[in-house]
Amino acid sequence: MFIPQIDEWQSASEKTAEFLSGQHKLVIGGTERPSASGEMFQTFDPAIGKVLASVPHAGKSDVDAAVASAQSALLVWQKMAPSDRAQLLMRFADLIERDAPWISEVESLDSGKPKAHIAAVDIPLAVGALRYNAGWCTKLAGETIPVTAPDMLVYTKREPVGVVAAIVPWNFPLCQACFKIAPALAAGCTVILKPAEQTPLSALILGRLALEAGIPPGVLNVVTGEGATTGQALVEHPGIAKISFTGSEEVGKHIARTASSTLKHVSLELGGKNPNIIFSDCDDVDAAAATAAGAIFFYTGQVCSAGSRLMVDAKVFDRVVDRVVSEAKKLKMGHGLSAETTLGPLISEDQLTRVNGFVEESQQNGIEVVAGGQRGAGNLASGSFYEPTVLTGAKDDDRVVKDEVFGPVLTIQKFDTVEDLMPRANATNFGLAAGIWTRDIAKAHAAAAAIQAGTVWINTYNQFDAAVGWGGFKQSGYGKDNGREGIDKYLQTKTVWVNYAG
Ligand code: NAP
Ligand code: MG
Repeated sequence: MFIPQIDEWQSASEKTAEFLSGQHKLVIGGTERPSASGEMFQTFDPAIGKVLASVPHAGKSDVDAAVASAQSALLVWQKMAPSDRAQLLMRFADLIERDAPWISEVESLDSGKPKAHIAAVDIPLAVGALRYNAGWCTKLAGETIPVTAPDMLVYTKREPVGVVAAIVPWNFPLCQACFKIAPALAAGCTVILKPAEQTPLSALILGRLALEAGIPPGVLNVVTGEGATTGQALVEHPGIAKISFTGSEEVGKHIARTASSTLKHVSLELGGKNPNIIFSDCDDVDAAAATAAGAIFFYTGQVCSAGSRLMVDAKVFDRVVDRVVSEAKKLKMGHGLSAETTLGPLISEDQLTRVNGFVEESQQNGIEVVAGGQRGAGNLASGSFYEPTVLTGAKDDDRVVKDEVFGPVLTIQKFDTVEDLMPRANATNFGLAAGIWTRDIAKAHAAAAAIQAGTVWINTYNQFDAAVGWGGFKQSGYGKDNGREGIDKYLQTKTVWVNYAG
């Protein structure tokens, strides 16, 4: 129940208050309904540690109902003219844009991230994914294949894989959902979306807006609930053809194992421990350092692509550390709805305990904390705030350098030569992204070739576009979101042989 007397919530719009005080329901087969058991769970505003809303906990029978409705909608959706499907996806995007002001507020309250960041990043990425993939609806052509046998026409058709379960994490709930829904629907698949239990609200809004856009009932279903029950029921369900997952390495591996018993298609976007490398010959060391601070502190470091391992040429090490620390100190921690806030809370107290554990362990190992290292104090104490933290002196085999912290914690390490650097940069099980800062074009391309990661940014960081595939190497998973590869994974190829000899 929404209680608007809390100071930080008072600035929320009437639309937000109306949504939050309404009854939240699952979206199955074009209708909004409570869970069969009536069971609910709570979602919190992590900036103040207060309950924001109660949401239905979908059980196995709700998942069965969602799969049945997605299966029957598959026939309707596949038969629709591709140009009509494209128009509906465009309309869906328009509605998200129309409602962006209040959706940004709801997403901010649920996730803790600054409303302004959601408006500037998450909404355009979500809308962009729908518009980009709408364009694919009319372009999914097969081919004809010349074969040895005479009088044979062989052609291929690109067909949807079937019902897709999209399971997404809490860090970019709206846009991660659209990165999966948009190509799946464009491919002619139907979808069951399961948001993370910490951030279920924007998925429910998406379910409603899809219906308002005229997308047929059952094409997009939304089931809220916890991973171990609702998510697990989806992964085990024989009626689901594909699991499209973004989340942790551990859960990703569990899903791949479970899905193998029904041979589902699986794509996994997992974690990262991304090296961001500053060479002394980069165009502007200070600007590179300022961007490096943004690369780790954006959304409080809870970003799979976070530039969490800053590796700096020894010649400019001190200058970079000074600049990163000064950028960290400029950040204003606060409630996501406040216009001055540039750094929101961590998603939960559990996450804060985990992040702080990394920092305490680092201190015990002699690593220097040159900024941050504490939870937010004073009026921030009731939220899960953690100061932007900079560590120097960590060794390559320290846990804080090897494991994904998923918080505002940056290690800055020195390197002397490129030969020394590359094996160290690649000494991680992950392979999601990397940054390289240099003016030397040969060095930039050589480094880009040597880095084992799905994305390399040169003289920039954290660039995303619906047209560009996103996904990792190594333990960061397989199967891209976005771009041409993003839609390919929702398609399967059928080959047709025609004997025209009579
Ligand atoms: P998580 O714990 O793996 O959860 C992700 C999703 O999986 C949630 O919806 C979760 O549900 C669900 N889930 C948990 N157990 C499940 C099971 N047994 N069966 C089916 N679904 C299950 O990850 P997270 O902590 O939310 O997110 C952080 C992780 O995501 C980080 O490792 C980060 O790097 C990664 N990530 C990767 C990318 C990328 O593009 N590569 C982007 C963003 C985040 P509940 O939360 O409701 O339990
Ligand atoms: Mg929440």
